[in-house]
Amino acid sequence: MDSKEVGKSLGFYEGKIKRKMNKLTIYIARFNPSRKFSGPSAPCKSCMCKIKEIGIKKIVYCDRVGNIKKCLTKDYHTDYMTPGYSEYKKNNINVI
Ligand SMILES: [Zn+2]
Repeated sequence: MDSKEVGKSLGFYEGKIKRKMNKLTIYIARFNPSRKFSGPSAPCKSCMCKIKEIGIKKIVYCDRVGNIKKCLTKDYHTDYMTPGYSEYKKNNINVI
């Protein structure tokens, strides 16, 4: 197998993985010791960036009042940045 063929087969597997990812749902929960239920766990801006990049189709998370929300990745929009990320940004630290 020469290098051209290796490149071709890698492309094939990448396509296959992408198709599989397209059927996946990510469940996001947040540990909250004071409650028996998950804390708010809606993904932040940088998590959404990664979720879209990987190609996960649906997201399930818990909102602020404790409802479980389910939606398509393409329908979810947020500008929320966690305090940790804002702090990194303030100090010019590039995390991702
Ligand atoms: Zn996040």
